[in-house]
Amino acid sequence: MTTNFKNHIAGAWVDSSDGKTISNTNPATGQSLGYFASATAEDTKRAVAAAKEALPKWGNLPGPSRGAILDKVSQLIAARTSDLAETLTREEGKTLAEASGEVARARDLFKYYAGEGFRAGGDVIPANTPDTLLFSKREPLGVVALITPWNFPIAIPAWKIAPALAYGNTVVFKPASLVPHTALKLVEILIEAGLPPGVMNLVIGSGGAVGNALAESQDIAGLSFTGSLSVGTGIYAKTAKNLVRTQLEMGGKNPTIVLGDASIPLAVDIAVRGGFGLTGQACTATSRVIVEDKVADAFTQALVEAAKGLKVGNGLDNGVQMGPAVSDDQLQTDLEYVGVGKGEGAKLLVGGGPIKNGAGYYVQPTVFQDVEPGMRIAQEEIFGPVIGVIRAKNFDDALDKANGIGFGLAASVVTNDLKRAMTFANRIEAGVVKINEPTTGLALQAPFGGFKGSSANTFKEQGQAAIEFYSRTKTVYVKY
Ligand code: NAP
Repeated sequence: MTTNFKNHIAGAWVDSSDGKTISNTNPATGQSLGYFASATAEDTKRAVAAAKEALPKWGNLPGPSRGAILDKVSQLIAARTSDLAETLTREEGKTLAEASGEVARARDLFKYYAGEGFRAGGDVIPANTPDTLLFSKREPLGVVALITPWNFPIAIPAWKIAPALAYGNTVVFKPASLVPHTALKLVEILIEAGLPPGVMNLVIGSGGAVGNALAESQDIAGLSFTGSLSVGTGIYAKTAKNLVRTQLEMGGKNPTIVLGDASIPLAVDIAVRGGFGLTGQACTATSRVIVEDKVADAFTQALVEAAKGLKVGNGLDNGVQMGPAVSDDQLQTDLEYVGVGKGEGAKLLVGGGPIKNGAGYYVQPTVFQDVEPGMRIAQEEIFGPVIGVIRAKNFDDALDKANGIGFGLAASVVTNDLKRAMTFANRIEAGVVKINEPTTGLALQAPFGGFKGSSANTFKEQGQAAIEFYSRTKTVYVKY
């Protein structure tokens, strides 16, 4: 069927070649938000071919000219902040305040990488012989495939698309099927800002069709994926066959350690923001709070009170502090894990159930205590507002428990003891380390990426680090 919500391939807005669409649903109400063209594997190949054709011209454009377009993108995002934020809340569910913050982040990412157009260069290296100029120069990597998850529908696409374009690559972008509208509106802005045909292609569609066609493509030079460990691992096996440069940023099971000297109100605020903010649907969300014995009871009691006080509802409504789960599937996953936790012997202190609010997918903020490090609820990513409190005998025990896991994305500690804080920074196995801050929240100008099963451990995203993934270097020897 033909729809108003189309893909963008080779400079044109197009329906799917087989006429199929996917439905977009508001998780706060269960209502349909419309039907989006669902690209096929063939459509995806066409998008890759278009990106390949557009590459030489775009790659050879002077960096400042590319940057000027990104600057325009930033301005257009700024001008449309409220529309973008409402679109995002409507399809993903997070509160309007959270969505507005995310849109502002996308605006700033394009602003930051617009400046990169003036900066990205190479190095002059001392030569071994006289009358020799030895230098390295940066080139675009080539056609890049960008596959993104649903939980940050504009920020994650922005932190991949902006550096990809700044450094001269052309893009095939596959957003998550749950959030096609924000992606479409972002691509509309990119086109309006002046990107030539073929430079930016949007292929909305299933992971099995579009995502797989990208992972198997021999015509891409790089693939950057953010999503779950299981999907990322499958993609890696495919890109490896074609020696495609691959960046995978995946799940987390992020700990906050609360030490005996911590201020309890501060620790609770940090746990609540990290664990219940964004409905717990952040890769950096806090899902384990490891508390030193002597403050464990006081902390847990205060956390439970805070969880009870949170206002859950439609993210578009005033005063709502936590939106719904993104989908019925995610709601069922959250509830299943509550059952798993109970079955494992953890004690449910608050929450654990759905909230009946029309046809929306609401779940209560949930706190477990008596969680043991080996339990599934302490090891597996739930991706919902579920915090497990784990007791620790002392600092070393807390560190061992924090590290005793297959993920290593973000971790935080709450303490006033500088020595322990810095020891934590040295010994914790995580790519993002926070002292007296929630595990969530990132600075766009700083490198971002996980350790262990949270990442392919190849390239970092964001900040200056992004240049390493999105460009390649040539070393040039000039004898004169
Ligand atoms: P997901 O199920 O892994 O999906 C991520 C993306 O991959 C989606 O666009 C999805 O498409 C696509 N995909 C699915 N199957 C595929 C396949 N066989 N081949 C290629 N692509 C495929 O993850 P999600 O549920 O969207 O997102 C939640 C996960 O992302 C969590 O694990 C979270 O921790 C992680 N995450 C990590 C970071 C980070 O920076 N480390 C940030 C945010 C989220 P469909 O939508 O069409 O299925």
